[in-house]
Amino acid sequence: MGVTLDLSRAPPASAPAKPNLTGLTRTELQAVLVEAGVVRPEKARMRAGQVWRWLHHYGVTDFSMMTDIAKETRGQFAEAFSLDRPEVVERQVSRDGTRKWLIRMAPGIEVETVYIPDVGRAGALCVSSQVGCTLNCTFCHTGTQALVRNLTAAEIVAQVQLARDDLGEWPSPKEDRRLSNIVFMGMGEPLYNLDNVAAAIDIIADHEGIAISRRRITVSTSGVVPELEALGTRTQAMLAISLHATNDPLREKLVPLNKKYPIAELMAAIRAYPGLSNAKRVTFEYVMLKGVNDSPADAKALVQLLKGVPAKINLIPFNPWPGSTYECSDWGAIETFAAILNRGGYASPIRTPRGRDILAACGQLKSESEKLRASARRKAATPST
Ligand code: SAH
Ligand code: SF4
Repeated sequence: MGVTLDLSRAPPASAPAKPNLTGLTRTELQAVLVEAGVVRPEKARMRAGQVWRWLHHYGVTDFSMMTDIAKETRGQFAEAFSLDRPEVVERQVSRDGTRKWLIRMAPGIEVETVYIPDVGRAGALCVSSQVGCTLNCTFCHTGTQALVRNLTAAEIVAQVQLARDDLGEWPSPKEDRRLSNIVFMGMGEPLYNLDNVAAAIDIIADHEGIAISRRRITVSTSGVVPELEALGTRTQAMLAISLHATNDPLREKLVPLNKKYPIAELMAAIRAYPGLSNAKRVTFEYVMLKGVNDSPADAKALVQLLKGVPAKINLIPFNPWPGSTYECSDWGAIETFAAILNRGGYASPIRTPRGRDILAACGQLKSESEKLRASARRKAATPST
């Protein structure tokens, strides 16, 4: 299991944590301010609007910075609430500019978030939606970890806030952003945590705050068919589907969820995805596994399967992990595969591996760096002779 409970760092029971305001939706923020008795109901909307801008446009973590709010009120806020960020346990920067943060949300609850430059309009942040994952895709390391729990909306938003702290992107820049896109492609299955993912997207997309447009937010799913429509209507996010195979027997082996929601059902739900159009295409992710799903015949089957669907195909070279039974396809096979898709009319960029030196690749998040830290600890504990 990839996550351990570290109770030694738990706060003493006698110090109840103050409610943190940074991950609340606008409505929740108003309600919390009123409930705590620090704002009168008739002023709630206005006050919440002020606080909102400070939190999500200016990124402040200290009430004393909120200079358009009376000093006394700020003091009351500080007594009642917290604006603290979760702790960054580890920060790494790759030679190619990829950044990775290991974030401790709570004792024993750690997730990784990765910033990848030159993806999307300027750079994309890969966020996690769960700690671990309940689905056991056979090529994915996250799938070998037991799920500890869903992340809250606040914990999802905190990943964006921390990345922006580090990138120096407060107040929210209108032009020349480095963090322009969000992809839910970190740990976990976002559609098993849709309530929190949708609330987080509401906060991240809000025009008076972080203001990342919903068209620049992509949610990747292994294919939780019954939740697809709700994802579209509630978030208007871009959809990415982890397809990886074009026939049920193979997809069942790679993505066991396929037994529950086979390809035909999945494709029907994708065709019905709210807002789907040529300007708003579905991304199909396809991990390249040597000798498994990477033949020219597989590529042709993929073109057939996607006929009539406004789609892009993202070919992902497999990232091996210790104990994995697959290998990455040869580069030549990937190029041949991509050429067939291109001839079939599909843009099919090959996702170039990024941040390899800091283990920031898909499906490797957290587990790998955790293992390295464990081995470093073991080395440090070994007495030298
Ligand atoms: N659970 C969601 C989102 C997180 S995984 C999903 O499955 O879509 C993000 C992407 O990384 C998915 O397409 C997933 O299939 C892919 N992935 C997982 N492990 C991988 C690995 N070892 N190498 C390459 N891609 C991997
Ligand atoms: Fe979970 Fe996605 Fe990994 Fe499958 S690929 S185990 S759904 S994180």
